[in-house]
Order: sequence, then structure tokens, then C-alpha cells
Amino acid sequence: MSRSIVPDLATYSVWFLTGSQDLYGEETLRQVAEQSKQISDTLNASSDVPVTVSWKPVLKDSDSIRRMVLDANSDDSVVGVITWMHTFSPAKMWIRGLDALAKPLLHLHTQANVELPWADIDFDFMNLNQAAHGDREFGYIQTRMGVPRKTVTGHVSNPAVTSSVGTWSRAASGWAATREMRLARFGDNMRNVAVTEGDKTEAEIRFGVSVNTWGVNELVEAVDAALESDVDDLIAVYLEAYNVVPELQPDGARHESLRYGAKIELGLRSFLEAGGFTAFTTNFEDLGGLRQLPGLAVQRLMADGYGFGGEGDWKTAVLMRAAKVMGAGLPGGASLMEDYTYDLTPGNEVILGAHMLEICPTLTTTKPSLEIHALGIGGREDPVRLVFDTDAGDAVVVAMSDMRDRFRLVVNVVEVVPLPEPLPNLPVARAVWKPAPDFATSTAAWLTAGAAHHTVMSTALGLEAFQDFADMAKTELLVIDENTVLRDFTKEVRWNQAYYRLAQGM
Ligand code: MN
Repeated sequence: MSRSIVPDLATYSVWFLTGSQDLYGEETLRQVAEQSKQISDTLNASSDVPVTVSWKPVLKDSDSIRRMVLDANSDDSVVGVITWMHTFSPAKMWIRGLDALAKPLLHLHTQANVELPWADIDFDFMNLNQAAHGDREFGYIQTRMGVPRKTVTGHVSNPAVTSSVGTWSRAASGWAATREMRLARFGDNMRNVAVTEGDKTEAEIRFGVSVNTWGVNELVEAVDAALESDVDDLIAVYLEAYNVVPELQPDGARHESLRYGAKIELGLRSFLEAGGFTAFTTNFEDLGGLRQLPGLAVQRLMADGYGFGGEGDWKTAVLMRAAKVMGAGLPGGASLMEDYTYDLTPGNEVILGAHMLEICPTLTTTKPSLEIHALGIGGREDPVRLVFDTDAGDAVVVAMSDMRDRFRLVVNVVEVVPLPEPLPNLPVARAVWKPAPDFATSTAAWLTAGAAHHTVMSTALGLEAFQDFADMAKTELLVIDENTVLRDFTKEVRWNQAYYRLAQGM
């Protein structure tokens, strides 16, 4: 009954485009084609690169470049293009193509050979292997035209190169998923909260995501329509997947609450599938006829790849769906997270994060416990929920704020640590982490940036994927990591105010 909506990234492709010109004659161009195909095939075969890399015939003139770009634009399975100038490809012939390009671009600055055959080099060799200046010509025209791209340098046998290309292809896949995202909000934002608000029209212009609201009682109808036989099947899934506490088991005193939790999952899933939604939000202030605040259901839908934000926070839901797609197939996961409380022991400060229910179980490799506890918030029956500790290891937390004239992403590199002590009285899933570069710098920078209390925590992806994603979205990204110095960070925040206003025109 788990129905993952995380795509198989191998069904996405990036096109490998090689630039040259007619000047060199047939024999050289034959070698350009052969060697560029080898490079494309090496990327395609690399386990670092999850998408399909598709080699295209060598491009030698303006018309064929423009035509290739238009074809890439119109093919929904193409998430980006990689370009390489094996020889010299006079860059004015790229202007019309780059002007038309609507997909992410990676400029691969490489060459066919690793070492130079010093003793044998003649001018034929120099003619064939001149990416060192061919790519400079191409870099010039991209920069002059303001084309956003990622530049990756080195031989494709270098793991740093395939890793960077692979991360970019993940970001491009996340960007493609964002461009087609439909997000359903049940109810509006939590009353009076500022940072979860935002401009939904601007979000569709900037990210391509369609964000709209449905009355929660439309969801209630879907929940009430769930079949008892489907509930039975889902209960069997729960019993297999989780450590279900005795009171929720089929012969337990509160089993009926679990059956209702299963109905919420069935209703939510059918509503989202019928509407083609890949992300959603709820609001505990607007539950209509729902008898429980959705906890378990939301946790399981997140695990299947849906983006989610609590309290109407659609911006975090957008980020989470992007993170689910970008992290497809990697160990670890992505979840809504909320900074809750601190241990301020000097030199060993940690952040305890959780939410009132909705933390995604992809953050753990252990078997979660399925429990029921009282929840004052929401004023309904006690909700069922999964309880677990997030696995220790490297992670990032990412937040999106609406700064009125633009969106701002802020990412903090963190280390999830084991629980310092058990939490026997905390009945929700949680994570404990140390932020880079240190607690004081991280939190002061976070507050200076106006970054949100809701984040997406990813234990599958690092900083680079979100950096690439932000570049594709032409959206500000502030980074808090081991290199962050508060004074410089504060200046960057100020300068960015000016830069991003100028960059989007007056
Ligand atoms: Mn919250």
C-alpha cells in the first residue's frame, strides 16, 4: 500500500552537446565525435550520475545549435544539457541557442586525455585537443549573456567531476519536478504567523509550482469514503512496518483510533492522487470534520515522496518535494523539521528539533514505534504517530523565506548526533544536531538572515545540491557552514539586498 511518487531518475535524461566547427576537416571531426561520445558514455556509466546521459551529434553551426536547444526544451524527459567545446566553436554561433535555452546548463570543462603525450605532440594534436581555449570562448558568451550554469572542471575519470555532474543532475531533476508541481493546501496559514506566509503567484512565476487551497471538508469527504476493507489492508501494513504499541493493536483498547488514522491516510492519498498533487499542507486550526490531526498519514506520505508543510507552510512543502526528488535512491531522507529547544551546555550546545507530529521516517533506519498520545494542539481526538530518533550523521537544514521582493533560501550544514540521553516522555519523532560552524555563529547568522523556524532536513543531500537548485531557480541562497564568519555573513545579507533587486531589473 506504499505508493512511492519518487521518480526513478534514470527515466530523466540530460543531453551531452559538443561544440566544434567545420574548419577542421572530416578526420578531426570524426575524432571529436568519437571522443565526445566516450566522455558522454563515461558519465552515463558512472554510479554518481543517476540520470541518463544522452550523446548528441557534434554541433557546428548556429541553426543546428538552436534546433537542438528547442528540441531539448520541448522534451519533458530532458532535465538539462551538458556542453563541452572539444575544439574551438566560435561562440557567436551559440547566441541564438543559449538565448532559447529553458533548461539547466552544465558547462563541462574537460578534455579527452589526462596526460599530454609530450614527445608526440604535433599541431594536429593541438587542433584536436583545444578545449582549454574553446571552453574559454564559450565561457565568455555565457557570462556576457548572463546564462546561469554550473561549471565543472577536470577529466571524467576524476570522481570529483562525476560527483559534481551527478549532484547537478539531481538538482536538475528536482527543478523539473518543481516546475510541474501542484500543491494542495487544506485551509490557510496558521493565524498571525509571518514567515509561513508568501506570494503564491510569485512562487508559480519563479519555481513553476501551482499552490492552491481546498476546503478541509473536501478532504473529510475522502476520508469518510475510505473502505473498511482498505483500512484492514493498511492496518496489516502498519503491523508489519512498525512496532505498534499494544493499545493500538487489533485487540487493543484504542485500535479504533488507528483505524481512523488509516482512514486519514487513505483519504489524503486518494485526494492527492486524483488531483495530481505532489505536495500539501495542513493547519491544525482548520480541521473541519477531521477527528484527529493527521500525523501518521502525513509521515507515511512524506516517506512516499510527498512534500509537506505544517500550519499551511507551503514554501517548506515545495522545498521538501524538491529534496525528495533530488535525493532519489540515496541513503537517508528528507523531512519537515522545526528548531524547538536547545541544550546550552557551553562548548557542547545542541539543537533538539521535532514537530508536533510530522517528521518523516526516512530520517531513520530503525523500526519506528507507532503510538498514540494526547495532543493539546488542535483540540481533537488523540492522534496516532510514528516515534523514532533521526540517524546520526551529516545533514543540512534548508529554509525558504519570502523577503517581499524575492524568495531567500538559507542552508545550514549540520551534524545529527545521537541522543545525549533517552527521551522517554517526548512522544514524537525527533533529531538532535550540532550546527556548523558553531552554535553561536549558526544561530546568529540564521536570525540575521530572517530564516524560518520550519526547515527541510535532508540527510541524503549536501550543500552542493541545494546550491545548484538555487542557481537554477535564480534564487538567493545564503550558506552557513564551516567557513561562515558572522561579520562577513551580515555584509553578504546587506549586499544581496542590492544585488537581487538589480538582478531582476528595476
Ligand atoms: Mn510548525
